[in-house]
Amino acid sequence: MQFDVCLLRCEDYKPEMLDKALEEAAELAGFPDVEGKTILVKPNLLRGVAPEKAVTTHPEFLAAVLRLLNKRRPARVLVGDSPGWQKGSAAARSAGLLAATQDGGAQWVDMDSGAMRAAPRGRLVKEFYLASVLQECDLIVNLPKLKTHQLMTYTGATKNLFGLIPGLGKSGMHLRFPNAADFGTMLVDLSSCLPPVFTFMDSIVAMEGEGPGNGTPRHTGFLLASRNPAPLDWVAANCIGYDPQKIPYLVDAFTRSQTGNEATQVSAEALSVGPLQVSDVRIEDFKLLPYATTAAQKGFSLNRAPAPLKRLANTLLVSRPIFHAEKCIGCSACVNICPAKALALGKDSQGRHKVRIDDSVCITCYCCHEVCPASAISIGRVLHRRHEDSRKAERTQ
Ligand code: SF4
Ligand code: SF4
Repeated sequence: MQFDVCLLRCEDYKPEMLDKALEEAAELAGFPDVEGKTILVKPNLLRGVAPEKAVTTHPEFLAAVLRLLNKRRPARVLVGDSPGWQKGSAAARSAGLLAATQDGGAQWVDMDSGAMRAAPRGRLVKEFYLASVLQECDLIVNLPKLKTHQLMTYTGATKNLFGLIPGLGKSGMHLRFPNAADFGTMLVDLSSCLPPVFTFMDSIVAMEGEGPGNGTPRHTGFLLASRNPAPLDWVAANCIGYDPQKIPYLVDAFTRSQTGNEATQVSAEALSVGPLQVSDVRIEDFKLLPYATTAAQKGFSLNRAPAPLKRLANTLLVSRPIFHAEKCIGCSACVNICPAKALALGKDSQGRHKVRIDDSVCITCYCCHEVCPASAISIGRVLHRRHEDSRKAERTQ
């Protein structure tokens, strides 16, 4: 028996437990024959950080997937990702993924260079600049981490493939598609033009709260696998308490995965999920980020509104980064990744590192929040930021 989405228990990252669970998942989700093929394994490497933080795919998870692949005698196994501002191999070393790759007999690729790839079924993007290594590979084995996401609400299999865009090309996409609705359509366009993708989702320890870079690890004890990223995301989001119907890019991805490129209503009821059902694992108190509610997140255009109304709406409705000098280590990661060039690093009156933001150019992509290694950025309304600033000023007087 095979399922569209395989959902099963795997309580921790012990190698023997992972091997058993992943072999079962491969069989139940119809893992393809890879003998003689070139495989690209794509973990989530948001930045180089210890695996316990649950920001990245756990190295033991990658190691177990490589053991599974090696048994099936592929011609070559490549492993790679392209974090926004760090060199991939440097970030992979810090996250334990480089050692897991080498120990597993695979080759790490940095994905610095790219090539154009046509996306004929894309709605907003008809051509992507993607990692050159894709030209050689027959199958992508996608290893996303299950996390909340400030801009997209939820991140998993579909969003993890965005890392195939080399380096700061990802920032360019944020600039081009500043609202979540268009950005989500672009993500689905991207997944429509790739070689076949098989996903094993590392959800054993997921991230709740302020994901994808600064949330809290949360043990779930389950993993998922599928031949298709979109149905897997649908089920995974449901497992942590989201209603995927309220996350537009998941609806778009799921609909297109079932119908080609047609905007036809499809029913998730028809999906086969097993051996466990969502109700067997669903976590009711997972700390979720709210569904997109602001005008900018929903993609409403205020372009025709009078300027004062636009300014007021932006001030009141749109959550923005808030920088905390007491935690900032002055690494410049946020400044370097910012697609809108809205940030500058300086010093505050006490000589501490302080990042200043130009709200008039910030596009609220939250990339700065994702990459901050010191949890020195939170997301909130500008009015809240002003309130915080005045409270801090009072405290230092
Ligand atoms: S300041 Fe942060 S949220 Fe604003 S555009 Fe730059 S990276 Fe995006
Ligand atoms: S706010 Fe974070 S990312 Fe930006 S300079 Fe400070 S520590 Fe680095």
